Amino acid sequence: MNEPSPSLSTAAAASSSEVRSVPAAAPEQLAARAPAPEGLPGGKPGAAETRPTPPLPDAAHHREPLVNPGGGIDYRRFLDCIHCGLCTAACPTYLELGNENDSPRGRIYLMRAVTDGRLHLTPEVRQHLDLCLDCRACETACPSGVQYGRLIEPFRVAMEEHGISGHTQGWFHRLVLLGLFPYPQRLQPLLRLARWSQRLGVVWLVQALRLSRLLPGAWRQVVEMLPPLARPAPKLPAFVPAVGVRRRRVALFTGCIADAMFRHVHWATVRVLARNGCDVVIPPEQVCCGAIHLHSGAGSAAKDFADRNLAAFDVKNLDAIIVNVAGCGAMLKDYGHHWHDDAQPSRAQLAARVRDVHEFLADLGLVPPEGKLPLVATYHDACHLGHAQRIREAPRKLLASIPELQLRELPETEVCCGAAGTYNLTQPEMAQRLAERKVRNILSTGAQAVLVGNCTCLMHIERFCRAAGHRLWFAQPIELLDMSYQGRQPRL
Ligand code: SF4
Ligand code: SF4
Repeated sequence: MNEPSPSLSTAAAASSSEVRSVPAAAPEQLAARAPAPEGLPGGKPGAAETRPTPPLPDAAHHREPLVNPGGGIDYRRFLDCIHCGLCTAACPTYLELGNENDSPRGRIYLMRAVTDGRLHLTPEVRQHLDLCLDCRACETACPSGVQYGRLIEPFRVAMEEHGISGHTQGWFHRLVLLGLFPYPQRLQPLLRLARWSQRLGVVWLVQALRLSRLLPGAWRQVVEMLPPLARPAPKLPAFVPAVGVRRRRVALFTGCIADAMFRHVHWATVRVLARNGCDVVIPPEQVCCGAIHLHSGAGSAAKDFADRNLAAFDVKNLDAIIVNVAGCGAMLKDYGHHWHDDAQPSRAQLAARVRDVHEFLADLGLVPPEGKLPLVATYHDACHLGHAQRIREAPRKLLASIPELQLRELPETEVCCGAAGTYNLTQPEMAQRLAERKVRNILSTGAQAVLVGNCTCLMHIERFCRAAGHRLWFAQPIELLDMSYQGRQPRL
């Protein structure tokens, strides 16, 4: 095993108050403490897959809680990291801050050190972990196949479950992020109120007088990120038949925020699927995918959402479950990995049916759209599409089939825009830095339209584009495809 880089050692040592008095073990000693599992160099048949929880320090001398959030993680996942550092240049927080503790390699090292019992989970350590966007750009860059999401996500879940995440104390986190956003039926009345406030000029007045600065931080982010709200699209029916010969029977996953704010995108998706010969089922009992909860560390609530979706989708009678939001698609595709109980095989079956809408249509073979859209557009790779699902070519292929649409490549398209689910609310400073970086790159293309396969990224980038005084047209690629089929033009 390679030595950790000097900069990592320095980073850990720099916060000497965080480090236990126990001398840091050399990598060989660590390997001896945690036997390499079967299949890895030095591994023995039957070696334990999960590292036992190490003894923690004397409570009388330390204020940190006596729990180990890495204790349940398969320790081989830490050992996959060979400390080469190739991921650092892909990591948005490292690009912005240049601090090794805010890089993938640094965070893996921190989590592993906490798991080993060599480092306390202090607020400083938590902040480095909290600043991670879970964008998984590091997975794309890593030559060693490190599954970073399977380290940070269970680590966060364990921190939350043990009450050491720093989130559980926040009422905004409990009531709004976890109690409001995942429930479209709770969100809709508030969105109606917000729409009327916008129409009556209340929001304009608040912005003109800069009154939103008086709101608590996270509320200010919510108010400022709201786009001009249109009247919501009508409720979706439970079934839409294929146009012409039926080629597939699919279900549409509608989600939570997407259903409350972007139902017009669901309508566009259903129309495009039907036009491509798909019967579309839209189960009314389906719920949020659980990603907001899981990424906030609330694992058991996320499992409840997963199991309600398991009951809602008749998996055996579907060719695919179609998703048009990258974050939800990544979460649903991971249903088989997150929990290990009796329902795990059924969750894995559901996960195997999940297809991102671009991926599905590109594989199916698109009925060529004929409506001309003479536009210059650029496409941003949402992290949970490009990195987590590795879907990059399919959206470009679909867009290339639209007559007269000119697609210009976006510099740094693979760098996260800072939205990252609810990250833009919980880490607004970094979220803003990344959004401004994204807007600069978008403007450099000269595009009139910006296409994004994830609704929260779209809202986030649009907000900072508006704030900088630029009026570009934002949409999801499927909306453009729908317009081309219908012979409509966007209102730029
Ligand atoms: S690229 Fe992969 S192996 Fe190399 S430091 Fe990053 S996570 Fe570790
Ligand atoms: S998930 Fe994204 S922000 Fe987090 S360490 Fe990996 S590249 Fe960096």
